[in-house]
Amino acid sequence: MSRYFALIPAAGTGSRMGADCPKQYLPLLGQPLIAHTLQALAREPRIEKIIVVLAPDDEQWQSHHWSGWQGRVETLRCGGASRAESVLNGLDAMAAWCADDDWVLVHDAARPCLPRSALARLIDEAGEDAVGGLLAVPVADTLKRADQQGRVATTEPRAGLWQAQTPQMFRHGMLRQALAAAGNDVTDDASAIEKAGLHPLLVEADSRNLKVTYPRDLQLAELILEHLDD
Ligand code: C5P
Repeated sequence: MSRYFALIPAAGTGSRMGADCPKQYLPLLGQPLIAHTLQALAREPRIEKIIVVLAPDDEQWQSHHWSGWQGRVETLRCGGASRAESVLNGLDAMAAWCADDDWVLVHDAARPCLPRSALARLIDEAGEDAVGGLLAVPVADTLKRADQQGRVATTEPRAGLWQAQTPQMFRHGMLRQALAAAGNDVTDDASAIEKAGLHPLLVEADSRNLKVTYPRDLQLAELILEHLDD
């Protein structure tokens, strides 16, 4: 039986946030943002352990209280220069106690509002798939491509387009190999799998699973968390 692990890359600086601490530590409803992300993953009983990849020089993690998480959460101080490098370093370190065909759910620290139902659906559907898959949302808006002057160059057809979210769930060995071959410019895990010629499964989620990127997203995340009922 394959096991399920969650891996949270949390070694980014969150420069687009413009805050003076990395966004995973910004206060959200009285807790650091990443605590909500851990809670969202921990609600799923099939996830055995949650591994958090921190920057080697992270000084903020230990300034918060994590004693209630002992045994379920493990930190690794092996973050790299890019998200892809942080995930790959985490997968390398996990290889000591994780089998090649165990599932790893990679989830951005900055997505604290992951609904329980979406997470369960991902495990149910991608867990039956030979490749694995990711949460994603069909594009609802009309898409414009800009020219150099900030005017509309073209309208892009949106049919068949999806916005990728996380978690993205792949077998440990397959993802490790794909990320090692893909290089640093991939912005998600599925892209590395695609570069290897495979086609991850799209599992439908919704916009509540937002990625906190800009200051106004924090307010939105707060509202979502206060009303999250699944
Ligand atoms: O910057 P972005 O929002 O795309 O980051 C997505 C996730 O990747 C965040 O959880 C961030 O902390 C993580 N990351 C990382 N190592 C980096 C850059 C980003 O773990 N060097």
